[in-house]
Amino acid sequence: MKVLKFGGSSVGSADSIRNVKRIVESQTEPVIVVVSALGGITDKLIRTSQLAVAGDVAYLTEYAEMAERHHAMIHAVIPEGAARQRLILEVDRMLEELRSIYQGVYLIRDLSPKTQATIVSYGERISSHIVATLIDGAQWYDSRQFIKTEVKGGRSLLASELTNQLVRQTWNSLPPISLVPGFISTDAESGEVTNLGRGGSDYTASIIAAALDATSLEIWTDVDGFMTADPRVISSAYVIPELSYIEAMELCNFGAKVVYPPTIYPVCVKNIPIRIRNTFNPDAPGTVIKKEVADDSRLIKGISSIKGSTLITVAGLSMVGVIGVNRRIFSVLAENGISVFMVSQASSENSTSIGVRDQDAAAACRVLNDEFAKEIETGAMFPMQAEGGLATVAVVGENMKHTPGIAGKLFGTLGRSGISVIACAQGASETNISFVVDSKYLRKTLNVIHDAFFLSEYQVLNLFLCGVGTVGKSLIGQIASQQEKLMREQGLKLNVVGLASSRRAIFDREGLDLNRYRELLQSAPESNVRRLHDEVIGMNIFNSVFVDCTASPEVAALYHDFLEHNVNIVAANKIAASSDYANYHELKAIAQRRGVKFLFETNVGAGLPIIRTINDLIHSGDKILRIEAVLSGTLNFIFNKISADVPFSQTVHMAKDEGYSEPDPRVDLSGTDVIRKLVILAREAGYQLEQSDVEASLFIPDAFFKGDVETFWQSLPSLDDEFEKRRARLESEGKCWRFVAKYEDGHARVALAEIPKGHPFYGLEGSNNIVMLTTERYREYPMLIQGYGAGASVTAAGVFADIMSIANI
Ligand code: ADP
Ligand code: ASP
Ligand code: MG
Repeated sequence: MKVLKFGGSSVGSADSIRNVKRIVESQTEPVIVVVSALGGITDKLIRTSQLAVAGDVAYLTEYAEMAERHHAMIHAVIPEGAARQRLILEVDRMLEELRSIYQGVYLIRDLSPKTQATIVSYGERISSHIVATLIDGAQWYDSRQFIKTEVKGGRSLLASELTNQLVRQTWNSLPPISLVPGFISTDAESGEVTNLGRGGSDYTASIIAAALDATSLEIWTDVDGFMTADPRVISSAYVIPELSYIEAMELCNFGAKVVYPPTIYPVCVKNIPIRIRNTFNPDAPGTVIKKEVADDSRLIKGISSIKGSTLITVAGLSMVGVIGVNRRIFSVLAENGISVFMVSQASSENSTSIGVRDQDAAAACRVLNDEFAKEIETGAMFPMQAEGGLATVAVVGENMKHTPGIAGKLFGTLGRSGISVIACAQGASETNISFVVDSKYLRKTLNVIHDAFFLSEYQVLNLFLCGVGTVGKSLIGQIASQQEKLMREQGLKLNVVGLASSRRAIFDREGLDLNRYRELLQSAPESNVRRLHDEVIGMNIFNSVFVDCTASPEVAALYHDFLEHNVNIVAANKIAASSDYANYHELKAIAQRRGVKFLFETNVGAGLPIIRTINDLIHSGDKILRIEAVLSGTLNFIFNKISADVPFSQTVHMAKDEGYSEPDPRVDLSGTDVIRKLVILAREAGYQLEQSDVEASLFIPDAFFKGDVETFWQSLPSLDDEFEKRRARLESEGKCWRFVAKYEDGHARVALAEIPKGHPFYGLEGSNNIVMLTTERYREYPMLIQGYGAGASVTAAGVFADIMSIANI
């Protein structure tokens, strides 16, 4: 025989309850079916009693809703006829009893634990009658007759021996289908109604299965099985096919709600397998929990967590080497019915930290302070310190045994994500490492660990894309077209979780559909830099990258806080890297300290691998002696176009029309852009340089840089004659103009240079860039990097490459 337990959601709606009927009626051996209350009813029974005891008449409405929900269910699933009539009579009788109890509570304003237990028992009592009527041939049993509890340490606990005996008596002959309400029980002595605790129907089923030596215990719920993590928190959690009892016990004890923790023990002792199945998807194989599982190479099986943990620190100098302090701590807590789910002791032995649930914290401090009152008075021990607002996470798996490096990987992963571990403990059995973090980091903690240990077959990067100008747009297009291939071939999931233009922003943890980014942005709420800052930090999402495709100083000013919150930065925006050296240096230092990246390859030479090359040279021990470069696509275009037929002023217009120059071309003509780039290169080469240290020789009179753009365009042709004269001379000498940036021996300079034929810069075409690096290794023949130095798509590709390099850490 088997025991099948159906939880609240399995009996929560007409459709699901029909699934239950199908599943039960298709069984080929005798079954005992245990059911919970209709989904949500236990909570509602409790809430209603609280309203009643508070004297709030709203309890009547809540009660009426509950009565209506049961009636509606009966009408939906039980066909008209005598059976339905009998059921309605029975249910109405129980509902009437319930109403009177509520009325009593309301009038007397008293809700004893006994009354509360009676009230909640109606959930299972009613649901089990409905299901028993629905399933053909089901025989109803009253669990209050055979599930017995006794009071120990102020709590009602199972009276196992008596219960086992009564269960066996009850089923000395076994009908094909028995139906039992879960959760409820009675006190062995007084016969008063009690229960097995929230979620206790699982336990009822396990107790019966163990007492009757069932072949298996099936727990039917609303998920496909026991999953690697809570699927409500980790959307990529997946079903674990097999778990050992120990693993399941550890996961349940630490909050995996799918099985009520005491459930495992009775069936484990009898070596009866537990299967977790989905009522809504009966074809799914589910999870089997048993003694030994097939060899599985996964180091860890699952992660679970308990929110609302408090850490109590028992500390004092007298504890050192004193035998018995720990015994006293645990005895006094146990005597007071306080359960401890984690203990960590410093090896110096002068402090022990214990993890308890928030609701037990005050009592735990009180009893410990009483227990150690004498020691505290003499100053040998300190009063208890409690730190609340914490969460405890457990990483579980039997394969962790004797596998070195798991704790290292675990804590390394947390560190890189900016999560500090407040306390940790590893059981000697090595099937569980548990640790405490600040509650606000819980979601992120679970995500990073899940990502690091379970999803090694694919990795996720969560991107915030800021700026939808030409580069931003092009990047969005490139990511959208590569997403699927990257997932398939590289196992990399690029999840765009935020998208911002200068006026609007949209965020979604689960990822935005880039093919619809225009619509999404259009209907997105208005935004500003402050909101961007708060959202990115507030989302607190793991493996995140902020991608800046703007030219905005305000956006660049956000990097500091983002890096401090372990958000990687990829910037096409040059402002930060070329700002004050102190700021540049600080950003790099934060990134290094936090274990995240601050990348800005496209600040110089668009997608050309210039900064990366300089970094590689330096890291491999080379020294950059001289940098000479043509770094302005716009200026190179202008000096390549200028000819006897095309005067200077016209080339400036052409550069603008082709989209090379800034809207105000003076930003290019003044060399400002080139100065920024040179500063960045020199800094990356290891030199401390400010923009103001760069000497700039301009090729246009100062007056042109003052006043508005209109006047500038009007007066520009006045320079043409002079330019043409100089150009003609240059041509006759076999030379050409290049706007060259140069750094050597602490001197930085940008100037228009006359380049002779044969020099590597001479043949530089179009808007291309070139960088010539003279290093200790590349001294006689310097290293040259050249190619497209401007343009949206190559810049976007460079940004993309930076993003990919973060994925490859
Ligand atoms: P039932 O009403 O069937 O007893 P519960 O709500 O008690 O169902 O438990 C099932 C729920 O447990 C799932 O819907 C899921 O949200 C949650 N859960 C938490 N952790 C896990 C996990 N590791 N695996 C599966 N489900 C989990
Ligand atoms: N109905 C009870 C509860 O909600 C028992 C159970 O569902 O297992 O806690
Ligand atoms: Mg449950």
